[in-house]
Amino acid sequence: MEYRHLGRAGVKVSTISLGSWLTYGESTEEKIASDCIHRAYESGINFFDTANAYNRGQAEQVVGRALSDYKRDSYVLATKVFFPMGEGPNDRGLSRKHIMEQCNASLKRLGTDYIDLYQCHRYDPETPIDEVLRALDDLITQGKILYAGVSEWSVTNIADAVYTARELNLDKIVSNQPIYNMLNRYIEKDIIPLSEREGIGQVVFSPLAQGVLTGKYKPGQQPESNTRAANNKINNFMKDLLDDKTLSAVQELQKFANEGGYKLSQLALAWILRQKNISSTIIGASSPEQVEENVKAADIKLSDSDLERIDSILEG
Ligand code: NDP
Repeated sequence: MEYRHLGRAGVKVSTISLGSWLTYGESTEEKIASDCIHRAYESGINFFDTANAYNRGQAEQVVGRALSDYKRDSYVLATKVFFPMGEGPNDRGLSRKHIMEQCNASLKRLGTDYIDLYQCHRYDPETPIDEVLRALDDLITQGKILYAGVSEWSVTNIADAVYTARELNLDKIVSNQPIYNMLNRYIEKDIIPLSEREGIGQVVFSPLAQGVLTGKYKPGQQPESNTRAANNKINNFMKDLLDDKTLSAVQELQKFANEGGYKLSQLALAWILRQKNISSTIIGASSPEQVEENVKAADIKLSDSDLERIDSILEG
């Protein structure tokens, strides 16, 4: 396993990390979740991502229980705040009130005294940026969180956070959590260049495009049972990727991966890690075997000619 700095921060995270969205939360799934987390930890993963809103707090509880088997200082725990946690007007967003209350609630659900990385799950246009940054800075001073980050913020919002923190002498964000994979490269244009200048590391989600970049969905065929696409968990991010043109390109990528002796999932993760601004790529997994297969990507180094071939397949 390789460990990289979380942006400009001193702390180091495994380049492959494990998430908990869509995969865990219901009681029947706790055993699988726990097995995945244990397999990940034993494979060298030290970075675990969750959010208050994943199954309205249940995912945090599952992750917290599974990690309680390990020494607290041996892993880096990330969670998030923003999405609704109730029906009231203050049960969502990034107001100082909601951030403070949800941070305390997350600490309880996770069963820990501190959160390593606390992320603003989305930008909140209704709360001034200085209110958000001050609340995060206070949580750092109180020792409840160690670092602050954002997720899926636009380049303008990230720049605003950076310049406001500098002006008010508040702690700066160290990470951004956007979607990034071979089929969605939007962050390459503006977000990565700004982040490189400002010491913000990317912690990217859906690196396998929710399983599409494993090659298991074939053009013209129904998804096999026991896959995310077949299990009624299909969502907007995924729907757009299940067209025959995309799936045909993915089959080409799979051939190329197999020629090099890899699985496509491993090639797709190694491709993401070619970017030095990526601190970590968060995988989802529905079995410990998937974790084991994906973790091996951390050791794969792609050559310039591999990257050119991948680009040419993606460009069609
Ligand atoms: P991935 O793109 O890694 O997709 C994960 C899914 O792909 C698995 O659940 C599994 O689904 C399938 N899969 C993974 N590995 C393999 C394999 N080796 N072989 C076959 N199938 C495989 O990531 P996610 O979209 O799940 O996102 C990862 C994490 O990122 C989340 O858990 C969450 O923590 C975070 N996230 C953050 C968001 C944000 O807004 N900040 C939004 C979305 C996610 P199956 O077996 O069911 O087909």
